[in-house]
Amino acid sequence: MKPLILKCANLIGETGLYRILRPGRIPVFMLHRVTSGDVCQPGEITADQLRQYLSYLSTRGYQVLSMDELLAILDLKKAVPSKSVMFTIDDGFFDQNDVAAAVFDEFGFPLNFFVITGLLDKELWPWDDQITYALNRTTVRQADFQFPSGKSCSIDLDNANTRQAIRAIRNALKGEKQEHIYEWLKAEFYKKLSVEFPNEIPKEFRPMSWEDARSLRKRGHGVYPHTCSHRILSTLSSEEKHYEIHQGQQRVALELGFNPEVFAYPTGRPTDYDSTDINELKRAGFRIAFNTVPDYVRQGTPQYELPRFSLPQSESAFLKIVNRLESLSFSNWHH
Ligand SMILES: [Zn+2]
Repeated sequence: MKPLILKCANLIGETGLYRILRPGRIPVFMLHRVTSGDVCQPGEITADQLRQYLSYLSTRGYQVLSMDELLAILDLKKAVPSKSVMFTIDDGFFDQNDVAAAVFDEFGFPLNFFVITGLLDKELWPWDDQITYALNRTTVRQADFQFPSGKSCSIDLDNANTRQAIRAIRNALKGEKQEHIYEWLKAEFYKKLSVEFPNEIPKEFRPMSWEDARSLRKRGHGVYPHTCSHRILSTLSSEEKHYEIHQGQQRVALELGFNPEVFAYPTGRPTDYDSTDINELKRAGFRIAFNTVPDYVRQGTPQYELPRFSLPQSESAFLKIVNRLESLSFSNWHH
């Protein structure tokens, strides 16, 4: 949409017109890294930008839902408030506590954390971030890898930029058997890139602590499991699926003293989980689970496939989603 048209559309959006035309929709946003500086990488957002978004919601009387409020809405115990929105943040890095939660606290809004329990336990850091880390450090220009499946893959950093290579390798690995992905990184990926394997979690990927997580809950935020290792569930054996779902739940229960009933799938595309995972979640007592399909949550949305929008870096894109204008996009008319 052209900027001026979008601006007008957002102004009309503030009148609540689209909420009346397309009622009962809750935008659930997904954040990742939040930086206190003024520049950010793709997938990141600055604290100032986040503050602007929350300030918009606060001054216009939006209700930022807690997880319990969302559960009550999905259980039909509560109607969908016309101006409501929810926020989630994935993985459990230090900045999510130090920076993101601090901004939410300024407004008294709840933020819902999905934590990789192996990261908080300092046993591992996410395989997908390790791809980024190694490719950002390598001086090798060409490399040939053998993927866990035996498939070969080559990269040419003279002809593709690092960002493109990161995206290509991450996406290719999402379709690989991920049982031994961490061993593979060490034995193959770091080696072929001539990057030293870090024996500790690098500073920029360090986790928040369990103590931080307890403090978050005391301040009204939610903390829920996001597996132990962030491996893609649909690529794992049934024993490994069971472990990731149950062990992740138990670590959160043990550290935080409550039984978590909410889950988010690693990377969360519809191909990243399957019906076996959903059945395993049900057996473990989970009531809802989030994926990463960009759409609104409604009463009646399948409870183990609740969609989320990535929090946009541009304010106009954010307002478009918040004011339900996104649901008027042609691609969404079938909903
Ligand atoms: Zn994640």
